[in-house]
Amino acid sequence: MSEVRTRFAPSPTGALHVGGAHTALFAWLFARHEGGKFILRIEDTDEVRSTTESLQAIYDGLNWIGIDWDEGPDVGGPYGPYIQSERLETYQGYIDQLIENGHAYRCYCTPEELEERREIMRRRGLPPRYDGHCRDLSDEQQAGYEAEGREWCVRLRTPETGTTVIDDIVRGEVSFDNALMGDFVIQKTSGYPTYHMAVVVDDCLMKISHVIRAEEHLPNTPGHVQLMDALGFERPLYAHLPLIMGTDHTKLSKRHGAVNLMDYADKGFLPEAMRNFLVLLGWSPGAEEEILDLDQTIERFTLEAVSKSPGVFDIEKATWLNGEYLKRIDAAILVEELLPMLAERGLVEAEPSAERHAWLVQVVDLMKERTRLLSDFVDWGSYYFTDEFPYDNRARKKWLGREDVPDRLDALAVKVEALASWDVDSIEQAVRDLAGELEVGAAKVIHPCRAAVTGQTIGPSLFHLLELLPQETVAARLRKAAELGRAGELAPLPDEEGDK
Ligand code: GLU
Repeated sequence: MSEVRTRFAPSPTGALHVGGAHTALFAWLFARHEGGKFILRIEDTDEVRSTTESLQAIYDGLNWIGIDWDEGPDVGGPYGPYIQSERLETYQGYIDQLIENGHAYRCYCTPEELEERREIMRRRGLPPRYDGHCRDLSDEQQAGYEAEGREWCVRLRTPETGTTVIDDIVRGEVSFDNALMGDFVIQKTSGYPTYHMAVVVDDCLMKISHVIRAEEHLPNTPGHVQLMDALGFERPLYAHLPLIMGTDHTKLSKRHGAVNLMDYADKGFLPEAMRNFLVLLGWSPGAEEEILDLDQTIERFTLEAVSKSPGVFDIEKATWLNGEYLKRIDAAILVEELLPMLAERGLVEAEPSAERHAWLVQVVDLMKERTRLLSDFVDWGSYYFTDEFPYDNRARKKWLGREDVPDRLDALAVKVEALASWDVDSIEQAVRDLAGELEVGAAKVIHPCRAAVTGQTIGPSLFHLLELLPQETVAARLRKAAELGRAGELAPLPDEEGDK
């Protein structure tokens, strides 16, 4: 096979959606697996909806998830420009050629006339398509319409009988009835090419070997290959990727939650985890394991292993995967990811000292076993950074609201203050000593202590956690919870407020 060249061809009409990122990822992985080239092409032939902010959002989304491109608007390449609005002359040349050799013609029908005739077809139970009104106009008829000042578009003359067969790598052979195609528009009345015209010319001129795109484009494909045939271009291979659905098995949409890729960055997902999650939507590595680093994914990725059935965008699974990545990632690297988030909440200085940085690494290392999202560090771990943390309802119900707990907390505070060295072993000894003196199990001291120092009932190993807080902070928090408890301020909250 000649060189593998794939492309991602987004229309810059909004943020990069997870569906777009999924398509880009599959096309990119295939190019990387084959040692080929991946091209980014911007399809801005929708003059009304295309925006430059959206172009930036596409770059940002692709960069975040780690997709790079060998050719594209910003990096250039041998087949540029890579923005369709900069290629209008090229399309015009091919449109003229199609008209000249009779493959295309000017259509003067107005939108109202078209709608009227479509309506008649609908009423007769026929599929509403262009009825070929302007297919064979004489020179006089054309001149007449032009003299009337009518606007025109250009349509491709498509076969009225037979079938067009697409041999799709994912879906196998798919046949389309040519009678249903209708002569579609290749140049709008504005003079702009349609998506169909531009995508075909560009895929061919940019020597795309494999058009890898979402399944929703499959119905466009017979028209595209007809257009290629009319232009005398060689057809690329096609692979239409399965749809992405929500857990209710309807097409993924805003109803299911965030659909913009970068919203997942804001929610605390790691790009590696999101990439791993997306690649498993409609592709399987063929083995049990689901956590695949990038090199493994590239090595194993083939289009033959892409499934026909839709992938389910299950946010629970994505969150689980993210947690698995958090466990594996080095704490020092995580700190870099977390610093902006912590600084934004005023929990840590934006540029911490070396000592504080080293402490942060220890905190993150201790917490990362249990967190599933980056934001969990901030939401769950605020007690590392501030004394102003909430006491949750479980902590209140199980421990802090109980009558016998304040004395136990005060007694522990005395032990804590008396410790000559502040390390895991000494802290553990102090807790066990107190339990011994009180003749209760160690758990009866450990749990109230956690509740008092963190406001929560679950978290990392208590002794390790305490070691990372200053000795006097721990003692002060124990005394404070004792005091609040005695004052009745740590009684359970009404369920709706506290049980979130
Ligand atoms: N520009 C099209 C879109 O954003 C993609 C076209 C294609 O991949 O062929 O849906």
